[in-house]
Amino acid sequence: MSAAEKENEKLLDLLKEKARQVRLGIIDALGVGHRGHLGGSMSCADIVTALYFHKMRCSPDKRQDPDRDRFIMSKGHSVLAQYAALTLSGYFDRSVLATTKSLGSLLQGHPERTTPGIEANTGSLGQGLSTGVGMALAGKADNRDYRVYVILGDGELAEGQVWEAVMAANNYALDNLTAIVDLNGIQAVGKTRDRYRIDNVPGRFAAFGWKTFEIDGHNMAEIVETLDAAASVRGCPSAIVARTVKGKGVSFAENTSAYHNNLLTAEEREKAIASVMAM
Ligand SMILES: [Mg+2]
Repeated sequence: MSAAEKENEKLLDLLKEKARQVRLGIIDALGVGHRGHLGGSMSCADIVTALYFHKMRCSPDKRQDPDRDRFIMSKGHSVLAQYAALTLSGYFDRSVLATTKSLGSLLQGHPERTTPGIEANTGSLGQGLSTGVGMALAGKADNRDYRVYVILGDGELAEGQVWEAVMAANNYALDNLTAIVDLNGIQAVGKTRDRYRIDNVPGRFAAFGWKTFEIDGHNMAEIVETLDAAASVRGCPSAIVARTVKGKGVSFAENTSAYHNNLLTAEEREKAIASVMAM
């Protein structure tokens, strides 16, 4: 094994461990007996981890730095994954996770800019990519070299505004923008394809002039490699379509809409932790 390969292996080991910590953080944020969005947070946990601990240039001391990279969780209900990554990065104390969704907490059920590290209020689905287009356009206008990353859900792709943003990003050649689709195939009330056909998502982005990539959204090596490739695309925006498993890591919550927005009992919480530890 070459020195570079060894370095890469070390990075992947570190990121896999961080992803486990992110998943444990999601379980902490959910708590016991409170409804919350476990499924969609778990499905994007590996991607969020790679963004925060490998790809993005951002940190708590650079919250006002105009050159920081921006991240938008357009499927705002999955913000538990982001909260976990933010606390692991030092944006706020880990003890705050347990207060998630309580009145007056720093951490609400959907992202708000009052939380350190949150760049955009989201949760009303379909709007985050438009915000990302605005940020990317501003970066170009100001001659900054920051990048903008937006995670969307597959159910969210039924929102028409997403495709206006996709068209605008191509029109302005926003190569500083990467959209990542967390394609877990499930939305709040069941299989996404039973509500809206979303076949050939990469082809749809490609048809609007985006450079597209398809990956296994739980394969850290693929995630890292593709985020790097997307960052070197020039002249057009990039989309990463990540095939994922809703609830990934919590065995009893995998591939079902039952834990899209559900509570854990004390017993389920223990099972969930054990499941994540066994990954
Ligand atoms: Mg989904």
